[in-house]
Amino acid sequence: MQLYSTNKISVNVGFEEAIFRGLPPDNGLYMPLSIPKLPQLFWDNVENLSLQEIAFEICNVLIGDDIPTEDLKSLVDQAINFEAPPVVQIKENIYCLELFHGSSMAFKDFGARFMAAVMSYFLKKSQKSINILVATSGDTGGAVAQGFFEKDNISVTILYPEGKVSNIQEKQLTTLGKNIKALEIDGTFDDCQALVKKAFLDENLRDRFNLASANSINIARLIPQSFYYVAAYAALKKLGKKYVFSVPSGNFGNLTAGILAIKMGMPATTFIAATNINNVVPEYLESGIYSPISPSKSTISNAMDVGNPSNFPRLKALFGGNLSEMKKQLIGCFFDDDQTREGIKELYESYSYLTCPHSAIAYLGLKEYLNENQDTVGVFLSTAHYAKFLPEMESTLGFSPDIPDRLASLLNKTKVAVSMANDFEDFKSYLNQNLI
Ligand SMILES: *Cc1c(COP(=O)(O)O)cnc(C)c1O
Repeated sequence: MQLYSTNKISVNVGFEEAIFRGLPPDNGLYMPLSIPKLPQLFWDNVENLSLQEIAFEICNVLIGDDIPTEDLKSLVDQAINFEAPPVVQIKENIYCLELFHGSSMAFKDFGARFMAAVMSYFLKKSQKSINILVATSGDTGGAVAQGFFEKDNISVTILYPEGKVSNIQEKQLTTLGKNIKALEIDGTFDDCQALVKKAFLDENLRDRFNLASANSINIARLIPQSFYYVAAYAALKKLGKKYVFSVPSGNFGNLTAGILAIKMGMPATTFIAATNINNVVPEYLESGIYSPISPSKSTISNAMDVGNPSNFPRLKALFGGNLSEMKKQLIGCFFDDDQTREGIKELYESYSYLTCPHSAIAYLGLKEYLNENQDTVGVFLSTAHYAKFLPEMESTLGFSPDIPDRLASLLNKTKVAVSMANDFEDFKSYLNQNLI
């Protein structure tokens, strides 16, 4: 696979270089130069394929030239060592795609596990070591920590905004130890993201260390997120309807991966870009004006508190920069915290279904759309387990829902994190002392 930079200044690179660089030198984002369609035979037969088979076929057309077939097969089997995520029927034409059954109980496990597997594969061949730098607004950190834990020759540094991630999320990224280090930054998620971006552009650091990103800006995070859209389509294909996916969005990696699946030939599907009040993309779809929100606003769906979505240039590129093309496939909507709480309550009271604040926003967006498109089957993506947001669930529902054992045992572990001001020089000096 050849990749270009969305800023069109940096030269094209191959897959291996793109995943280790993370960002092109011109500060754009890497995008595949061409996105091949999967053969018709694949789509005709997709309902008979396992998640691993779907994943392999997608990888094979995208990166089959970069990794020999047998290696790619074992890599996919290692990264995707679980069943297809359940597609749960909530009511007649509303389904929930539950993406929270992985090791950190959020959909980011897909991207992180796959990326860790791909990086280990290439590092083993080249006998090099790397440092992963990653900013998290909550769930990225846990998924990356789990995905990369104890991987040889990889050190992971996670930046998170102090007081802005949930207790369980914080424990997920501060209790593993070994090759996983956590920095607690006095600032917002956008500040964390800016520090990481700056480190990647810093020549001194680049000369001294091998740096790599693990945010959804990394192309190796993006590709595996297309697998579950195709698996969900396969599960519902027999209904023979038009489909709509409602995606709770922050940095828009998840939704961009869905559009990637469309470009690879996934039939008849509309997407809903559902956000909280950090509604930059819904506003753009409405007005054609892209105006980042800085600083981002804090909400109860904090993994989506993003004021300048990092994947937006990719999303634009997938539609050739053409707003009216984008609007044919993509519908924007946004909801505030009160509406989000109503969504959580409604799902529980009407359908006995517990859902996290992020997923509730996707549900609300879907419901709105289906009111006017009754012939369509809707799937909202549930991006995290509700128990990761317990205080919010308790205050919204008036009782404390059960926590899975895996999360409960985390709460007794001791947090280890380094506190730091939002200051690049402090960050740089930490990196100089701690990277491998
Ligand atoms: C990261 C995250 C999102 C947003 O996903 P993007 O790919 O950044 O748009 C939504 N929900 C949860 C629970 C998340 O962790």
